[in-house]
Amino acid sequence: MSNYRYQHRGGCRCGAVQYLWHCNQSLAELSPRACQCEFCQPRGARYLSATDSRLEVQLHDSRFVYAHVFGTYTADFMHCGRCNDLVYVSCEHDGRLLGLVVQQSLREQVQLSAGECDFDQETLEQRLARRAANWIPELVVVEAVREAAE
Ligand SMILES: [Zn+2]
Repeated sequence: MSNYRYQHRGGCRCGAVQYLWHCNQSLAELSPRACQCEFCQPRGARYLSATDSRLEVQLHDSRFVYAHVFGTYTADFMHCGRCNDLVYVSCEHDGRLLGLVVQQSLREQVQLSAGECDFDQETLEQRLARRAANWIPELVVVEAVREAAE
């Protein structure tokens, strides 16, 4: 049972990676951030997080799920190699995983105005501190049970 008020579902289009985001805010209450870096900006990626939430990622076919790592090499941008959707971001910090949800991967789409951000000038220390303060504080990744008829 979940103690959170909302369960937002999402994942990539082909279903290889899916998630359930336990959250106390409705989607309308969230404000995405549109990062202006050279990776995120061309993809139009918008990121969502909530500090009192928990993200459960299910890998239905981990063969297709890739981590795109760049910049400071501290965050994994998880995307599906089959349908090419960017789904979520994870960052290991102090022995736990922090996360972000990519807005476009939510099953339910709502119009949200995004704030632009550009973190290029941050030091690595500032970056990790910001993530610890703002990202989803709990991220778990599980391998989904495969169909028996394989
Ligand atoms: Zn996919």
